[in-house]
Amino acid sequence: MSTLAALTTTGVGGPAAGTVEVSTEDELIAAVRDADANHTPVLLIAGGSNLLIGDEGFDGTAIVVRSSGIDFNDEAGSCGGTFLTVQAGHVWDEVVAASLEHGSVGLEPLSGIPGSAGATPFQNVGAYGTDVSHTLASVRVWDRVENRIRTLFNGDLDFGYRTSLLKTTNYVPGIAYAPRFVVLSVDFQLLPGDLSAPIRYTQLADALGVTVGAKAPAAEVREAVLALRDSKGMVYRPGDPDTHSTGSFFTNPIVDAATAARLPESAPCYPDPRGVKLSAAWLIENAGFAKGYGLPGTPGANITGGRASLSTKHTLALTNRGDASAADITALALHVRDGVERAFGIRLHPEPLVVSSSADW
Ligand SMILES: Cc1cc2nc3c(=O)[nH]c(=O)nc-3n(C[C@H](O)[C@H](O)[C@H](O)COP(=O)(O)OP(=O)(O)OC[C@H]3O[C@@H](n4cnc5c(N)ncnc54)[C@H](O)[C@@H]3O)c2cc1C
Repeated sequence: MSTLAALTTTGVGGPAAGTVEVSTEDELIAAVRDADANHTPVLLIAGGSNLLIGDEGFDGTAIVVRSSGIDFNDEAGSCGGTFLTVQAGHVWDEVVAASLEHGSVGLEPLSGIPGSAGATPFQNVGAYGTDVSHTLASVRVWDRVENRIRTLFNGDLDFGYRTSLLKTTNYVPGIAYAPRFVVLSVDFQLLPGDLSAPIRYTQLADALGVTVGAKAPAAEVREAVLALRDSKGMVYRPGDPDTHSTGSFFTNPIVDAATAARLPESAPCYPDPRGVKLSAAWLIENAGFAKGYGLPGTPGANITGGRASLSTKHTLALTNRGDASAADITALALHVRDGVERAFGIRLHPEPLVVSSSADW
């Protein structure tokens, strides 16, 4: 039985009881319905870039989503612009590149994010001040509770920081009807043109030599984003262990104002509708965990024998250096989480879907 490790960017995870690869919407629905008819738990895997699967594997059917296709429709939008329908398994960065080639803008800050289009609404994928909720019009889903195809519009999806209705209705492992909504395709509404949306992120604005709020040629924004992401190990590169991760392992915590006020003045704090958003990377670094923490010759090397470490380019990424197990990644994650909690009284929570019952998150 082959393991699921090869299907994930972290390269860890045991076997599934069954694995089915699907390449069309019909096959995806059929695979889910078969599993449901047999009361078998379902794990959807597309790019595997936001999953931490335990060494024990998954006692159910792993459905590997490989549907592909992008359709542009310049006529569909009564408000102008381009509608873009993308099949769930299509590689996300190809969608961004194709939209720019088509002369449509809005996705360029999301260049270089690994994984599939269908997973982007799951955690409202975002980077550089933009997330998919800014341009996503609707998703076509298979609803496993109502047993039918439905269209969920942007306003139905309860988008928030790294969350959506798709994520909050997902319960893994071990429950036969999880996740409730299987994304079949995603519709984006983009603007025509070759100038980007206003740049919302200081580091990106600096890289482009513009002020925050200004626009820039969208193709240049894509190049700048890819370069910035590469410098942080945030573009998946098979030959570079610093990218063998789930990207950010922890979400940025949102705390109340009193908790934020107790932090040192240098701690970044951002307003958020639910309180104050902190920087998980700052908390990790200032709790004593530097880039590369856990590599041989660095503090923390004893935890996993150097098999897993913080990326040498970014403290938020937990990386497999070549022969790490899921237990190694988990041990490092819990060690960092507990160290931050000891230092600042703030608990970090994992961003990826953790498919394992062997750790107490
Ligand atoms: C180097 C690196 C950098 C990253 N940078 C970012 C970043 O900047 N911003 C960001 O937000 N994320 C980032 N990520 C995380 C990840 O790339 C995104 O979350 C991505 O959208 C996951 O897509 P995927 O296809 O790999 O999903 P998978 O890992 O295969 O699955 C992730 C979740 O989505 C579910 N899912 C997958 N397909 C479907 C479907 N068709 N229907 C319903 N549910 C589905 C899965 O069951 C699982 O719960 C990064 C990851 C890496 C490795």
